[in-house]
Amino acid sequence: MADYQATRRRHVEYLLGQLGEHLGRLTWSAEQLREERTARLRELVVTAKAGSSWHRRRLADVDPQTIDEDRLRELPVMCKGEMMEYFDEIITDPRVTLEAANAHIGALTSDAYFLDDLHAVASGGSSGVRGVFVWGWEAWAAVQLTALRQQLQDRMNDPELASRGPVTMVVTANNATHFTTAVAETFATEAVQMHRFPIGLPLAAIVHGLNSVDGDGLATYPSMLATLTAEARAGRLKIRPRRIITMAEPLLREIRDDAQETWGAPVGNLWGTSEGGIMGIGCFRESGMHISDDLVIVEPVDAGGRPVPPGVPSDEIYVTNLFNAVQPLIRYEITDEVTLVDDPCSCGSAHRRVADIQGRRDDTFVYAGGVAVHPHVFRSALQREAGVTEYQVRQTERGAEILLRARGPVEPERLRQSLREALGELGCHAPEVTTQFVDELPRLATGKLKRFVPLG
Ligand SMILES: [Zn+2]
Repeated sequence: MADYQATRRRHVEYLLGQLGEHLGRLTWSAEQLREERTARLRELVVTAKAGSSWHRRRLADVDPQTIDEDRLRELPVMCKGEMMEYFDEIITDPRVTLEAANAHIGALTSDAYFLDDLHAVASGGSSGVRGVFVWGWEAWAAVQLTALRQQLQDRMNDPELASRGPVTMVVTANNATHFTTAVAETFATEAVQMHRFPIGLPLAAIVHGLNSVDGDGLATYPSMLATLTAEARAGRLKIRPRRIITMAEPLLREIRDDAQETWGAPVGNLWGTSEGGIMGIGCFRESGMHISDDLVIVEPVDAGGRPVPPGVPSDEIYVTNLFNAVQPLIRYEITDEVTLVDDPCSCGSAHRRVADIQGRRDDTFVYAGGVAVHPHVFRSALQREAGVTEYQVRQTERGAEILLRARGPVEPERLRQSLREALGELGCHAPEVTTQFVDELPRLATGKLKRFVPLG
């Protein structure tokens, strides 16, 4: 196997070579963006029909020469269950199987290449069904580029920040099987100083660490941002970030406002999915996020699959990923609730905007003594188990009861042990974790699964 660092350096070189063009795309007109999407959609259909027997059947009547976004809307929807069931038939790279991808993911302790030039990551997703996603070389770089280009453009336009290198403080889960952690590791460079603090650390240690770095960028989950804002207001956290980035959870308006007021720094929200990469990112001028309109097609729809107009929250979205042909996702269903914003943004970008997702914050479990445990602690351990297809984590007095639906082998004792250790490190006294295999997980009246159930 090729040396990881050597391959990674080649990948960073590739990414740097693409950066100028990607910056240019930020200033494209709506018409240019539409033309790009149409051209990429046609290429995607050609590749999907050539390389995937599953897509060949589904797209039998589709002419790749004439398909456009209007005709796309007539195609059937893909869901995660189907995608996992027919995985090997969907992938267009003949070297890739679900078995091989699962074996790769199961062994990950840090970022690694899959079959020399690919990446394979897992996602629990909001629906609770585990998904596996394989990314090609160019596509993996494009994920990073969509995050990087907007931040770089913002920085170049700011007289205070333009002349110095970024020093970013990151407080997130460190989860090698998730795309956000893995992408950041692949493309880490000395030009961007990155100081990482695992969200599982005790709060006092995070505050101490952040104070000692005092960087100009802060990136974390909205729930943690609220905690850090409170620490700053209490005088314990003394950092002076100029830009704040949030991700992975709904960003409530009050969390955004409190942070901006406390630090006088704008918050750029980020909408990432394992299916489409960075689907949207804030421009630090206004709230909400600009869709990566050159790389993905996002269709907000209601519960019946009908398109919803700007200003109306969707029940879910259909995503077509136009840049990762290794695993063609065409009208792929994601249960994110998004609202298109019709007004032009003051930054001048023609990339459409979606509002910050206002749904309920992810539930954090709070134990005796005020020990708070973020859902990512459980997610990280659960995503490692390839046999698990769905799960629900219920808080108990001293730990958690985990309901599992499994399709393959699971090592429940390994899972329980790693979670007991994680909870113990966070300050839970003599933590108890139980697991139970079930045929069906209890769902809410809406049909949605509440994956994390705090003690009532
Ligand atoms: Zn903007």
